[in-house]
Amino acid sequence: MTEKKGRVFSGARPTGRQHLGNYLGAIQNYVALQKEYDCVYCIVDIHALTTVETTRNLKGNTMEMALDWLAAGIDPKDSIMFVQSHVPQVMELHTMLSMVTPWGKLIELPTFKEKIKQQPKNINYGLVGYPVLMSADILLYKTDVVPVGVDQAPHIEFARETVRSFNYRYQTDVLIEPQMKITRIPKVIGTDGKQKMSKSLNNHIELASTPEETQKRVMTMKTDPQRLRRNDPGDPDVCNVYSLHKIFSGEEEVAMINSECRSAGIGCVDCKKRLAANMNVSLAGFRERRAEFARHENDVWDILHDGAARARTIAEQTMVEVRQAIGLP
Ligand code: SF4
Repeated sequence: MTEKKGRVFSGARPTGRQHLGNYLGAIQNYVALQKEYDCVYCIVDIHALTTVETTRNLKGNTMEMALDWLAAGIDPKDSIMFVQSHVPQVMELHTMLSMVTPWGKLIELPTFKEKIKQQPKNINYGLVGYPVLMSADILLYKTDVVPVGVDQAPHIEFARETVRSFNYRYQTDVLIEPQMKITRIPKVIGTDGKQKMSKSLNNHIELASTPEETQKRVMTMKTDPQRLRRNDPGDPDVCNVYSLHKIFSGEEEVAMINSECRSAGIGCVDCKKRLAANMNVSLAGFRERRAEFARHENDVWDILHDGAARARTIAEQTMVEVRQAIGLP
């Protein structure tokens, strides 16, 4: 077995069933990183509490997400996959880190300003401390590398600054500065052809949908807005259906669609049917594996609990060092 390069940490909020955008943007990368790194993947349910109106679906959404991660290829024998709240040490580290984090810096962060616009009636303390908890997530596991898209880079920079503040304040080196692994995250556009694929915009296609549901969603996709009639030539470069063909269809088919669209040789209905069929072929293995895991949900909880036990071992060791560094009696 080749030696791994270090530890990777990444977390995602329990948003339930994952869609194509989640898969192409993050999950696929999680799976690939397992070859090179010891990976710690966390379903961050505590983070979710800062914005949710109800926790009624929290448990179910956690399970749905775990099913998608496992079916996509996260290997729980190799990687640690767990639920954030099952490792309470993260809350303790969050408190310790909050003592070295200036309040003024938190309320000036663009992500916080954005959040208060989104939920002006629920500006809670947790929302302000969100980046501190995020830093605690990363630092608790002595993470070497965090995979992020360019837009998330400031969060990792925040965590690095927090490490410097903590280590300076307590004259220690127990916390280590994580490195960023900037990942080119493809922006997957939703079925509306305009905005990023997202559940809240209802422009998404779930990975676990049935072939029929997938076809139905694909058939609603917006295409080249200038192509109004079947006989009008189209421009695949401005069409989201074509973008997805480039991911799910073979080279020859993609080339054929590119030229036939421009000459009105193929209609959008046919083009979409082809896309749906190719997606369904591509996702068939994933869906089979997911259904198998879903038939044994108790085993999936066992996987998550086992992951949490392994995570707690690392977390407690870090906290022993942190408490000593602070000089707590
Ligand atoms: S033929 Fe295909 S690529 Fe061309 S506009 Fe229609 S859906 Fe888009």
